[in-house]
Amino acid sequence: MDHRVNLIGLSREDLAATMAAIGEKPFRAKQLWHWLYNRGETDFSRMTSISKVMQARLAERFQVKRPTVTREMLSSDTTRKWLFAFDDGQEAETVYIPDEDEARGTACLSSQVGCTLTCRFCHTGTQVLVRNLTAAEIVGQFMAARDSYGEWPTPDDSTRLLSNIVMMGMGEPLYNYDNVATALKILMDGEGIGISRRRITLSTSGVVPMMGRCGAELGVNLAVSLHAVTDEVRSRLMPINKKYPLAELMRACRDYPGASNARRITFEYVMLKGVNDSAADARALMKLVAGLPCKFNLIPFNPWPGVEFECSEPRTIKAFSDILQDEGYSAPIRKSRGADILAACGQLKSDSKRERCSQMKARLAAGIEDDHQTQG
Ligand code: SAH
Ligand code: SF4
Repeated sequence: MDHRVNLIGLSREDLAATMAAIGEKPFRAKQLWHWLYNRGETDFSRMTSISKVMQARLAERFQVKRPTVTREMLSSDTTRKWLFAFDDGQEAETVYIPDEDEARGTACLSSQVGCTLTCRFCHTGTQVLVRNLTAAEIVGQFMAARDSYGEWPTPDDSTRLLSNIVMMGMGEPLYNYDNVATALKILMDGEGIGISRRRITLSTSGVVPMMGRCGAELGVNLAVSLHAVTDEVRSRLMPINKKYPLAELMRACRDYPGASNARRITFEYVMLKGVNDSAADARALMKLVAGLPCKFNLIPFNPWPGVEFECSEPRTIKAFSDILQDEGYSAPIRKSRGADILAACGQLKSDSKRERCSQMKARLAAGIEDDHQTQG
């Protein structure tokens, strides 16, 4: 077991304090930041602007670490999925979803191992073991993903494959706010990885008290897993609704700092047959969000063994989408990506077999818009 301190995941301030603690000036932290996050260097002996003596001194005390890749899968549509193991043997998944033109793409990062929130349609919610991921483990997922594309030093914004981030993997990011915030600030830092806040989307099940802080401190795009238009149905699907019911959730959305017509909140809506997918539901949804700058992301439900729900019929999903679009809203139906490697959202770290929903989604895919901003 290597007990040296991992420098990855320390905020700029903590890195400076760590250097100060061994008698180094702030300059050293700035220099290291560049090696860690711009160059992606993991070996002190290759940090050529640092003297050999200093390299050895750093290597005695510190390490630059990534999570271990335990499985890596490449889909026929070039979606890629990694299963990462952390120091305690716990695992989480990360997915890379290329854009249609494959010149850019989105890294979908996990924020927790498992999730405490037990949404009834979500496989992650059935996992028994739950813990928060550290900032190092969150940043590490992105860095390890970037390693496999050889995108170091950090390319300028126009050429990078890993151009966008969504916090839509396993876990509820706003239940691990501090670590997620530290990680996102590192990922956004212009002297390092430099992913703009406009290219980052955080998805929450609706942790109302943390939403304002997320917008004010991080300024990232917000996606809210809505999934139902009445408290009765939403509480049945998502127990968190009992704590923060729809009225409070919608108020927090209206108050979200930075939400505007140019930066709309995304409402994710998983299509569950006979549960939330009627024309009346779509019309009630329009009432619920009236006046709010928002767009929708309709997600065909991914079934897993033992789950009580079924995916809505393609024509039902299309009709639902049409109602929203007729009102002028963007309401794409999420296209299935990486189906052959189970990369779909809500299926992460699951061995479950994909069922007929995947065939249905393949049929849906033709001619239907894809929203990469918010794919998990
Ligand atoms: N905990 C956060 C982020 C992770 S889940 C949240 O709930 O928003 C990412 C998205 O996948 C959420 O919208 C979630 O509701 C959806 N999801 C979960 N399980 C799913 C499934 N089986 N099929 C389709 N979407 C699912
Ligand atoms: Fe947790 Fe999100 Fe899954 Fe709900 S949908 S159990 S909040 S990961």
